[in-house]
Amino acid sequence: MKQLLSIDDLSENDIESLLDLAASFAEVQKRSVPKVPALRGKTIVMAFFEDSTRTRSSFDIAARRLSADVATFAAGASSLSKGESLRDTVETITAMGVDAIVVRHAHPGVPGAISRYTDAAIVNAGDGRHQHPTQALLDAYTMREALGEIAGKRILLAGDILNSRVARSNISLFTRMGAEVVVCGPHTLLPPHRDGTMFGYPVSVVKNIDDVIDSVDVAYMLRIQRERIAEAVIPGIGEYRSVYGLTAERASRMAPHAVVMHPGPMNRGVEIDAAVADSDRSLVTQQVANGVVVRMAVLYSILGPGRFDTDDERAVVEDLNLVDTPDPAEGEESGSDHVDPAPQDSSTKPDNASDPATKVKETA
Ligand code: ASP
Ligand code: ASP
Repeated sequence: MKQLLSIDDLSENDIESLLDLAASFAEVQKRSVPKVPALRGKTIVMAFFEDSTRTRSSFDIAARRLSADVATFAAGASSLSKGESLRDTVETITAMGVDAIVVRHAHPGVPGAISRYTDAAIVNAGDGRHQHPTQALLDAYTMREALGEIAGKRILLAGDILNSRVARSNISLFTRMGAEVVVCGPHTLLPPHRDGTMFGYPVSVVKNIDDVIDSVDVAYMLRIQRERIAEAVIPGIGEYRSVYGLTAERASRMAPHAVVMHPGPMNRGVEIDAAVADSDRSLVTQQVANGVVVRMAVLYSILGPGRFDTDDERAVVEDLNLVDTPDPAEGEESGSDHVDPAPQDSSTKPDNASDPATKVKETA
């Protein structure tokens, strides 16, 4: 795998391998020092042109747990806000000698455009309403962990399908993994669907969440963006909740084994009741936790020594698991905007792995 722009770049086999690889990295997480030296000497830039605390922190922690050097490109403070073109910005970042750029942007297609300006590998961390491939992978991982497998499962995706990159990525991934996807939402927030397909994948559309809630294995609730109310494409909050929300009453009608998911950030009391979000059915916390190991798998597949296509990938990681070396010092660079392409000398400074999380800065 050279880069990851869309979940559609990955075959079903690729997806399975990535999920297995992520499971290997989950083992690493259980160690007292949850780090492997796999990407030591590699530099990864987080270029988040759109706000995102959660996704950026997740990629940041994943990169550091693989011992990569991480730099943050703060879009708000950058020359882009002074009129520099995207191309100049990307060429400047590239000239510093980076290996991968993780891109989040409000406009669809920007990660793909950037990939034409640089030799660095591009990982799409969400582009407009287009794609959010690592979200789909972490969702698949979480579902597999909770339900054993995805094939044959009935998954309800509810809410703003039209504007959701998560819905686009997940409909592709879930249907290709053999799940049955059922979609529900206000007609103003549903994309065109003809002949039982949406975005080219087979889905069924239901008008009423109550018709399916007792038969689904997964209720995947999407965030309702407040501006959709201002745009008057959905009625008020109370009305939305009563028709499309996963209320406690609706959740009580789900099958005993059925689970609830949400990509975050949640609007409690709108698309999901607080009691449901915090219930035993809810996988929201697991989704966040799994985001780190799934992103480790993606970064390792792109930049790691074994690369992705080898069947020995798992063996490679198992080997790495045995190499429980002290971590290289990286304190000086943590959280700074400084880009240093040079491999770091190993030193003996032990590193608290939770450290990077606290050092992540907000982008504008
Ligand atoms: N859309 C953002 C993300 O994926 C939401 C957040 O920052 O909380 O991270
Ligand atoms: N965090 C997800 C995203 O960035 C979902 C959301 O923002 O609603 O797409």
